[in-house]
Amino acid sequence: MAVEAAVPGESLAAFRNEPYAAFSMADNRSAMERALAEVRAQFGREYELSIGGQRFRTGDRLKSLNPSHPAQVVGVHEKATADLANRAVEEAYLFFPEWSRTPAVERVAMLLRAASVLRARKMEFDAWLVHEAGKTWIEAEADVSEAIDFCEYYAREMLRLSAPPSLVQLPGERDELVYVPLGVGVVIPPWNFPLAILVGMTAAALVTGNTVVMKPSSDTPTIAAKFAEVLREAGFPERSFSLLVGSGSVVGDVLVQHPKTRFVSFTGSKEVGLRINELAAKHQPGQIWIKRVVAEMGGKDAIVVDREADLDAAIAGVLASAFSYQGQKCSACSRAIVDAAVYDEFLRKLGGKVDAIRVGPAEEPSNYMGPVINEHARRSILRYIEIGKSEGRLIAGGGPAEGDGYFIRPTVIADVSRDAVLFKEEIFGPVLAVTRAKDFDEALDLANATEYGLTGAVYTKNRDKIRRAAAEFFAGNLYFNRKCTGAMVGAHPFGGFNMSGTDSKAGGPDYLLLFLQAKAIAEKVS
Ligand code: NAP
Repeated sequence: MAVEAAVPGESLAAFRNEPYAAFSMADNRSAMERALAEVRAQFGREYELSIGGQRFRTGDRLKSLNPSHPAQVVGVHEKATADLANRAVEEAYLFFPEWSRTPAVERVAMLLRAASVLRARKMEFDAWLVHEAGKTWIEAEADVSEAIDFCEYYAREMLRLSAPPSLVQLPGERDELVYVPLGVGVVIPPWNFPLAILVGMTAAALVTGNTVVMKPSSDTPTIAAKFAEVLREAGFPERSFSLLVGSGSVVGDVLVQHPKTRFVSFTGSKEVGLRINELAAKHQPGQIWIKRVVAEMGGKDAIVVDREADLDAAIAGVLASAFSYQGQKCSACSRAIVDAAVYDEFLRKLGGKVDAIRVGPAEEPSNYMGPVINEHARRSILRYIEIGKSEGRLIAGGGPAEGDGYFIRPTVIADVSRDAVLFKEEIFGPVLAVTRAKDFDEALDLANATEYGLTGAVYTKNRDKIRRAAAEFFAGNLYFNRKCTGAMVGAHPFGGFNMSGTDSKAGGPDYLLLFLQAKAIAEKVS
């Protein structure tokens, strides 16, 4: 069904997910090789801070590195100070009245233009993601496509919400409900979807009429600087957003605690999310609202493989979910819970396939896995692997992979018990724990034996088991007979339960309401 367009007289086609470029085609492969070379030619460029439309240098710099080749500096970024963080919030606060009164259709038109700019620069963004985040081509393409989807989807959602829902009309009154923006939003994304998540949270905040301070991850600031270019090119006023690169521990608390900050949209680890939630809850002198915090956090996601499953399909799903993007997805499968009847066969088949996975520089399309994000992550994951070896039986991998980048072999550890560290803690790397379940009851019980509740999947051909799991498997995003990663905007609104966060359902029809408040207006007319 066509939606009325941002531009009167034109119609906006119904939302469709952005198609992925097929890298099996020679033309696309050469376009991607060109984009990688063009982006490489920009390595080492310097980027200034952008606050309320002005550029700033502080002399204190952050270098972002290519995790496939850490000697390569992708970008050099000025780092914000606490004073500049305060200034960013204050500038955003000053511009809020003007921006919030900009008609929704104009903001929607800007967001649709942002989608077009991203589409036109798609392979360039793919290349930045390969070089700065260590994504393989196809993972980069999925990230950029999702960013475009968020713009297209939220533009349509804003049009829907700007037509007020009808209320009960009392006799002699005109009764209506309108949605109004909140104020200054602080947007804090992680590095693992450095474009899609940054774009999703920022697009939602801006299109609903809020002003935004973006604080990107210190691992991926260049991608954020490139997105700021897109916003400008799409016509968003410079004063509607600031780009504040800087260490989370230096500027994060300042942004969150500022009395003029109205809401925080965070995606990242449980530890930082809980800290933000706590700091934001504390009232500051001069603050006249309760801050709203949307915090999407970690996962310890499980795939249940039932004895009545198509085992080959289950193995393919577990492999893709555990090792694509090196297991660095909040939705990654880090626990496979396998029915005892098929456990040994599952491990035998899985082990061979994991050993065959190619690991190496992300720019080489023959590698299925690239590097992990940085040296700190590499060390932490290797430490978990050592713990895992003492908690279970090593089936595949078990240490670093060759090369000068942050490479780790995909690792599978079997016979992991529900009390093991490997079963409980988010590792955020290519490490899969496999646990035996005596039957389906125990498998579901094990799947739920976690403080997290983000994604999950069940492989079974039995409809009764599907019905049971639909009711009992406690995860924000549950899948049957498919992998537990790869949520698509519009089809799989995304967000988790328990310590996985506030279940905001990004990419779904409830999401924009998190950036708005409803105002009821009644007028006596007779
Ligand atoms: P992180 O360490 O929590 O960092 C996330 C962001 O928070 C970064 O921009 C970071 O900046 C910033 N930050 C750090 N300390 C802060 C503070 N005190 N105040 C405010 N901001 C602060 O997470 P990450 O390593 O980037 O990302 C991986 C985590 O994200 C995993 O746990 C993963 O499961 C989760 N994740 C969840 C979802 C979801 O939808 N549920 C999606 C993707 C990822 P610096 O980089 O400067 O420290």
